[in-house]
Amino acid sequence: MSRLVSHNYAAVVVGAGPAGVAVLGNLLELGLNKIAWIDPTFDGGRVNSKYREVPSNTKVSFFRSYATSVQPFRNIVQSTRTPNAFSVMNKLDQDDTCSLHYAADMCKDLTAGLLKMKQVSHYRGEVTSANFEDHNSTWTVRIRLADSPTSNTEVFAPRLILCTGSAPIATPAQPVVADNAIEQLDLDTVLKPSILHEALPKNEPVTVAVIGASHSAILAIMNLVDLARTSHPNLRLKWFTRHPLRYAEFMDGWILRDNTGLKGQAAEFAREQLEDSRLPVSEAGQFIEKVDTSKGKETAAYASHFPNCTHILYAVGYKRNPLPRLSRNGRVLLLNDDHKQLEWDSGFGGFLDEHKEVIPGLHGAGIAFPERVADPIRNVEHAVGFFKFMKFLKRVTPMWI
Ligand SMILES: Cc1cc2nc3c(=O)[nH]c(=O)nc-3n(C[C@H](O)[C@H](O)[C@H](O)COP(=O)(O)OP(=O)(O)OC[C@H]3O[C@@H](n4cnc5c(N)ncnc54)[C@H](O)[C@@H]3O)c2cc1C
Repeated sequence: MSRLVSHNYAAVVVGAGPAGVAVLGNLLELGLNKIAWIDPTFDGGRVNSKYREVPSNTKVSFFRSYATSVQPFRNIVQSTRTPNAFSVMNKLDQDDTCSLHYAADMCKDLTAGLLKMKQVSHYRGEVTSANFEDHNSTWTVRIRLADSPTSNTEVFAPRLILCTGSAPIATPAQPVVADNAIEQLDLDTVLKPSILHEALPKNEPVTVAVIGASHSAILAIMNLVDLARTSHPNLRLKWFTRHPLRYAEFMDGWILRDNTGLKGQAAEFAREQLEDSRLPVSEAGQFIEKVDTSKGKETAAYASHFPNCTHILYAVGYKRNPLPRLSRNGRVLLLNDDHKQLEWDSGFGGFLDEHKEVIPGLHGAGIAFPERVADPIRNVEHAVGFFKFMKFLKRVTPMWI
């Protein structure tokens, strides 16, 4: 609940994952002294709730750079009693990757420090709607409070920043099997070995159809193979993939597929065990049958292999969490491909309406609203990751105030 009586703020920030935390750090550094921050739990976002057991794809040094990029963070790091998440991270090999629980703990420590600051008023709850009125240039932001879900409160500010995150696509627009034909596994569960082992039966034959070859798909295959060679000897995988494995590659001063290619442990595992030349002889290959679903082959491949599968796992990407209902002067603003009343523009970290005019004071960051970047050979990607969010925010937040 708010510690302040007044509900007028300089900015309202929605979401307390790594992106929301980074927004707070930047706005405070720029001198905003009255910020409302809203999240149901203030517990580090998805990196803490879902990815603690995932190996990072970025080096430790990038997490450290994130935590020391702005003065408010440096103050928190210095004033947090040791040992803390920062001192623990400092002791890791900075050039290596790490388990994401280190990054999650760091995010939680920064959150705890931010919540103590007098400039920050926090509301545990969910933003359900926000309306901008042109006549007073103010967003009215409605919050359903977590402590009493039947009561709402409203806060007011000229700036509204959405850091609302993304979640795995549970079922693609065109599912490859009819609903309920095969039991569906949840990607979040498969990325958490401590709960995955209970999600699958141990003593009966289980065949999981894994759809995709993304970073998350490879992490999922790693975890499932680990189960097959330890506690679940009857577990087998059918891996449906339509393109060769794609790796991030160090070029001359830049990284090809920096945001979409395989990195870290997932890349090592894929190179050593999943490549066509390795699969027939690798340990993982004892449990995996690879099925080619490249264009033209998919229908026949699914038809012949699915009857033998007991479970299906889609690892086909992430999509934005549903946004609060947004409106301007009472007119609803929709963010979808058909109605471009709200178009994300990472050039300035804001939104345009259908006339390509800036929607005043509305901004975004994080995995839901990432920066669009082009590499030297003009491949376009979305820049996702703690330090990339921070770098983006350092560039755009001065334009927001
Ligand atoms: C498998 C995987 C591995 C990754 N590995 C790395 C890595 O190694 N290194 C790296 O730097 N990055 C990594 N990332 C990318 C990225 O850092 C994480 O996805 C990160 O969690 C995104 O942070 P976020 O703040 O944008 O979103 P989230 O962490 O999803 O946080 C969003 C927050 O907003 C809240 N929220 C949503 N809607 C509302 C609402 N209406 N009202 C109030 N609150 C709301 C949510 O409850 C949540 O707390 C990885 C991502 C994935 C998927």
